[in-house]
Amino acid sequence: MRDVYRIVDAHCHVYPDAIAEKAADNTGVFYDVGHELDGKVGTLKEASFAAGVDHCVIQSVATTPKQVGSINRFIAKTVAEGNGFFTGLGTLHPDSEHKRQDVEEIVSLGLHGVKLHPEIQRFALDEPRSLELFALCAEYDLPMLLHTGDKRYDCSNPNRLLPVLKRFPELTVVGAHLGGWSIWEEAVETLSGVKNLWFDCSSTFHWVDPMLTKKLILKLGTDRVLFGTDYPMWTPKTELDTFLSLGFPEADNRRILWENARQVFGIGS
Ligand SMILES: [Zn+2]
Repeated sequence: MRDVYRIVDAHCHVYPDAIAEKAADNTGVFYDVGHELDGKVGTLKEASFAAGVDHCVIQSVATTPKQVGSINRFIAKTVAEGNGFFTGLGTLHPDSEHKRQDVEEIVSLGLHGVKLHPEIQRFALDEPRSLELFALCAEYDLPMLLHTGDKRYDCSNPNRLLPVLKRFPELTVVGAHLGGWSIWEEAVETLSGVKNLWFDCSSTFHWVDPMLTKKLILKLGTDRVLFGTDYPMWTPKTELDTFLSLGFPEADNRRILWENARQVFGIGS
């Protein structure tokens, strides 16, 4: 059935070759889990082809305001060199002194949204300095992929996310890791049914048993969940195989692997 729709990996981190392994190491240490691949663009392409993944949404997170411009230009260049294989998201930083210019550059580079990672970027979603970012993304119609959930911190859990979604009802948000990494059940309970919120299932299968994962996805709605691998954390082939083993009907697979990502991130437009 795979030839009847495309398969999108909606959550991939990529880095310039020279720093890829180090950047992947840092994230692996933060989550105490390592990483299966190396974070290079070429490796992502190879691993995606091997898995039958047809398209990747790529991004990288700025840990300081100074990195914002260079990361966004790196993502745009990678998209341009990718012959249609990639859709790119930009990064922003809540401490930047020129947030509007940063957003305008993201738009002019042709990037399709913004990724933020509150724990790694050290901010809470509903602080005033972050609300400025959400207001700008709403104004410029940029969907946002947010890392969501971490029981060790109080940055991106539902108590921080819900006020933002309520304040910017026109903003499209994807909550990564089913809306709450490490707090899956609580997050799904609290967040299902929120109108402007979608989810991805990246970095979930390693921790959550398949039957529970399936139950959580059904609770959120198969029209609300996107497939993603969190490359380089996990290998596309094993993640895709695990997803397919959940045994959703083909119509749901089509939504999760293709339609929802196409709709949210405007893939192909
Ligand atoms: Zn991520």
